[in-house]
Amino acid sequence: MSSKPMPLELLPIPIDAHRAGNTGIPFAHRLESGQPGPAVTITALIHGNEVCGAHALDLLLQSGFRPAIGSLTLIFCNIAAYMRFDAREPTASRFVDEDMNRVWSEQVLRSSRSSVELERAREIEPLIAATDLLLDIHSMQTPSPALMLSGPLAKGRDLARQVGVPAFVVADEGHKAGRRMRDYGGFGDAASPKNALLVECGQHWAADSRAMAIETMLRFLKATGQADDSLLAQYGLSATAAAPQHFVEVTEAVTIETEEFRFAEEFTGLETIPAAGTIIAQDGPVAVRTPYDDCVLIMPTKRLKPGQTAVRLGRRLPA
Ligand SMILES: [Zn+2]
Repeated sequence: MSSKPMPLELLPIPIDAHRAGNTGIPFAHRLESGQPGPAVTITALIHGNEVCGAHALDLLLQSGFRPAIGSLTLIFCNIAAYMRFDAREPTASRFVDEDMNRVWSEQVLRSSRSSVELERAREIEPLIAATDLLLDIHSMQTPSPALMLSGPLAKGRDLARQVGVPAFVVADEGHKAGRRMRDYGGFGDAASPKNALLVECGQHWAADSRAMAIETMLRFLKATGQADDSLLAQYGLSATAAAPQHFVEVTEAVTIETEEFRFAEEFTGLETIPAAGTIIAQDGPVAVRTPYDDCVLIMPTKRLKPGQTAVRLGRRLPA
């Protein structure tokens, strides 16, 4: 599959002014309301090349925003990777040693293993563990419409509904390769009141991804009770989101088996394939077909290597 390079509309911004922070942990800020309420956290740059979240947090920090209730912690996560950004090879700054969004289990965090990402995850872990409500801001390889990854539990979908954007909410289990931050501890426990969302704002370097990161952040703050409609109005946003939401449940992942994996079309993500049995890819001798009618393709990869997830398949859920 040919993959033409995406134009770099959205680039990293200097964030050195945010290094000191006020939590004792570099690039982590806490804004206190002085009132009781939830411990809310918004994170950016778990993947160093996903710069839209850094734009959103920088905007909020510069605005002088204070939460109405509880506390708000803002963390720029994988700084080491972000600092390596090179416009000639923009995807190289995703991580330094390993994917920082696959290390979020007690087993991995408490292990004796070391990496740049694991050390940073251990550094911010106390802030994440103390969080009641988390929004983790990401972006995607392909120019897919934005989507919310709400996790496998109903409480994640409920929070996504309260936020109201993006228009697509995808309920998913995460990755076999390791647990994501949004599934860590109480976030992944149906019995815990803790809750987390991961937003994929669009393509990494698309200007629209910045706007989606900011809108999702502001509507999330409203959903937590830390902000009201006047904050939305300040950024030209109406009280309620414009588009209705669609909920999709991931049913399976297509794992690449051979070096000869090719998609049937250049899918970007969130396409709905009407008929069961439609060929969506060829993996060596095997045709990959949709298993049911109205199958939704979620985040097709451009890294077509054996063992990788090529695409995840989803079924529409009632809203
Ligand atoms: Zn990401």
